Amino acid sequence: MSGTVTQGDRPKLPMQGVPQPSREDVLGLPRVHLSNHPVMASKVTKLRDKRTSTAEFYRLVKEIGSLLAYEATASLALEPSSIETPMCPMTGSQLAGGIGIMPILRAGLGLADGFREIIPDVQIWHLGLRRDENTLQALEYYNQLPYRVDLQVCYAVDPMLATGGSAIDAITVLKHRGITRISYIGIIAAPYGVLCLTQTHPEVEIYIAALDDSLNDYGYIVPGLGDAGDRQFGTL
Ligand code: URA
Repeated sequence: MSGTVTQGDRPKLPMQGVPQPSREDVLGLPRVHLSNHPVMASKVTKLRDKRTSTAEFYRLVKEIGSLLAYEATASLALEPSSIETPMCPMTGSQLAGGIGIMPILRAGLGLADGFREIIPDVQIWHLGLRRDENTLQALEYYNQLPYRVDLQVCYAVDPMLATGGSAIDAITVLKHRGITRISYIGIIAAPYGVLCLTQTHPEVEIYIAALDDSLNDYGYIVPGLGDAGDRQFGTL
């Protein structure tokens, strides 16, 4: 990345000097869906608070995952379903086609759990991507995707859309598997990550709970919440 500099033994500062878009630059993008629900806003604030314990943090990530799932699945296709109520037969509706969730390991696991609370009958496609702290490039270390693919939609889930590297790579993996309808679901995004993701995969819908100001020199979202993986799994 063009802003990479080395400072002796200290980690490199991959975002130092890199120009970043503002919130206003990305808010109007047609595929960016920023939640405006007050329950969501209050849960995200609790999540950001550094006093929030690991157990509470994970519970909140799951709850936010459920709320985001509800918003992101509003346009899913339905098909008729014949049932009988205690009163009479009727034709109702059921979700048409398979639904996949791809949690980007490990931080995406809590969100995927919350998503399953809303739609239990999903395929979970685990993908392990690790961020190189110096270059911010996403490196694939685990891939358990099924051979057969029969999904109407797949949701790539990762709580923090920072530089966008992991989300972009995960979505590229999904496209190589022939998935045509893909959404990204995250909790907090930086404008830089939103713009990079949109420019690389313009047809992907982006569902987020909060849009923050910027990335710091290390590529962390500010004000953000710190490291979402460490805070979920107590490895601070
Ligand atoms: N990943 C995180 O967990 N937090 C950030 O701020 C950026 C990337």
